[in-house]
Amino acid sequence: MPLQTYHHSASSKGLGSVTTLIVGAKEAVLIDAPFLLPDAKSVISWIQATTDKPLKAIFVTHHHPDHFFSANPILEAFPSAEFYAAPYVLAGINREYDDKVSYWPTVFGKDNVPEAPRKPKVFDFSFFMFEDNPGSPVVLLGPLQGDSVDHTIFWMPSERTVVCGDTIYGRSTHVW
Ligand SMILES: [Zn+2]
Repeated sequence: MPLQTYHHSASSKGLGSVTTLIVGAKEAVLIDAPFLLPDAKSVISWIQATTDKPLKAIFVTHHHPDHFFSANPILEAFPSAEFYAAPYVLAGINREYDDKVSYWPTVFGKDNVPEAPRKPKVFDFSFFMFEDNPGSPVVLLGPLQGDSVDHTIFWMPSERTVVCGDTIYGRSTHVW
């Protein structure tokens, strides 16, 4: 059976960023966490309503905060999930982390962004597999240029599906 993908869009206030859930035969993986805590809570309910497979990992496509900032409540809700990003994505997160952690609560308020957003661990491999989906690798391609220079896109050749982060926009993009 092929991998299945599902999508959740954040609120406009949360910049409408897209979270993707990939569901295999035995486990599930999330790509990107929302910017804001209320959107992350909505992602938790959406995952629970979409699959009963355990969430194995959350991956981050690029270093922008609307793709990782509110991973905390999702990781708390699914404590067995690992939090991963390619090394060049983590480098971008580290480069801007202190500035962004002090800046964004002044815009959105302390109730809307975590005080200390969790940082992903380095995922230093070019693909991963789902248990019992031997014909369906998920290939990490990057770093690629999108609205930042450090994108990973997640290519599922068997499903002919790509999780593209901010290399492609469905509706609009912010000014920078
Ligand atoms: Zn972005």
